Amino acid sequence: MDHFLYRDGALYAEDVPVAEIAAEVGTPFYLYSTATLTRHFQLFDDALSGLPHLVCYAMKAASNQAILRTLADLGAGMDVVSGGEYARARAAGVPGERIVFSGVGKTRVEMREALAGGIRQFNIESEPELEALNEVALSMGVVAPVTVRVNPDVDARTHAKIATGKSENKFGIPISRAREVYARIAALPGLEAIGIDVHIGSQLTDLEPYRQAFEKVGDLTDALRADGHDIRRLDLGGGLGIPYTRGNEPPPLPMDYGKLIAETLGDKGCEIEIEPGRLVAGNAGIMVSRVIYVKSGEGRDFLILDGAMNDLIRPAMYEAHHDIVPVVEAEAGIEYRPYDIVGPVCESGDTFARQRMMPPLEAGDLVAFRSAGAYGAVMSSEYNTRPLIPEVLVNGHQFAVIRPRPSFDEIINRDTLPPWL
Ligand SMILES: *Cc1c(COP(=O)(O)O)cnc(C)c1O
Repeated sequence: MDHFLYRDGALYAEDVPVAEIAAEVGTPFYLYSTATLTRHFQLFDDALSGLPHLVCYAMKAASNQAILRTLADLGAGMDVVSGGEYARARAAGVPGERIVFSGVGKTRVEMREALAGGIRQFNIESEPELEALNEVALSMGVVAPVTVRVNPDVDARTHAKIATGKSENKFGIPISRAREVYARIAALPGLEAIGIDVHIGSQLTDLEPYRQAFEKVGDLTDALRADGHDIRRLDLGGGLGIPYTRGNEPPPLPMDYGKLIAETLGDKGCEIEIEPGRLVAGNAGIMVSRVIYVKSGEGRDFLILDGAMNDLIRPAMYEAHHDIVPVVEAEAGIEYRPYDIVGPVCESGDTFARQRMMPPLEAGDLVAFRSAGAYGAVMSSEYNTRPLIPEVLVNGHQFAVIRPRPSFDEIINRDTLPPWL
């Protein structure tokens, strides 16, 4: 459930008409709902209420300061994957003890900054990374808390570009080698192993891969404890999918995911961490765009929008589906027709949907891409010197621009000429 609903034929974001925001901000733009963000975070928090836990929002999904602050105020921790995200989380007021640092390629500089600023744990993804973190910690006279991200070799049955838990993926250390790696950690004075980490992929629509992974993590917890390691925290990653297409069978609910965690790992006496990103932000955001032209081709009509692949790359990159709806609700009984929905960028890949059934639309009409809150704005670029589009946050009757559209001068002035020109 989200808070982008029609009222009297007009699409609203909570209590604000989307068309009103478009008139003030200009199109295209991203629009987020505080109520939806809050609700989704709370679903996870409630799902784990029977266990000691921390929900660490995977902020790569949508990392605007206002979104982070909204979630941090609810008690969220953050899962960061870069020094930049760490800095963003701290700037939004998240204390270091609520930040976990994930990612396959942490640099020594990033490690040092996180250790100096405060960090809950590093999720380590390789043996060279262990050695590097040990050196950095020793040079600072501190001990770094770590988990090892184990790769459980389960098939997450998701899109190949977002599956991470098979042995052929670049992520984590094979679970079969875990005991050796933890033994190595015990020998490194700059590190303390405090738990285990696993994250098997994104947009999972089935709990079975989670069950397999969690059972393996449970067995590993027992084995590592028998080896003398004080395993007290289990980070189970993120990845729960969202419904991108209305009317399709919905993915599992956070509540059932929480039950599965309790069932498979609840008896370990560990603090549970989860790192949901997409499910928190995905349906809490839409992208609003305006039809520039309707072009009739041979045998097909094109809706040419002012939004493009640089603003929302998921269709081009993952063949992702987004429901696209008119901001003025279609009249009951009106006949839908197929459109190819495209942006103005000079690439055939700049196609959002082919032969999508829509009510008849005209130049100037507004449309909304649903489920665009996660991996939307954060993946946008200024390709074709199209300014990064604004982000707007709604809260009840209020809305605010939370990232303004840069001017052309601001974009151009980021470049600097070398002295010989
Ligand atoms: C991307 C990522 C997540 C979040 O995945 P979602 O599918 O957005 O829930 C969590 N943990 C790690 C380590 C990630 O890389």
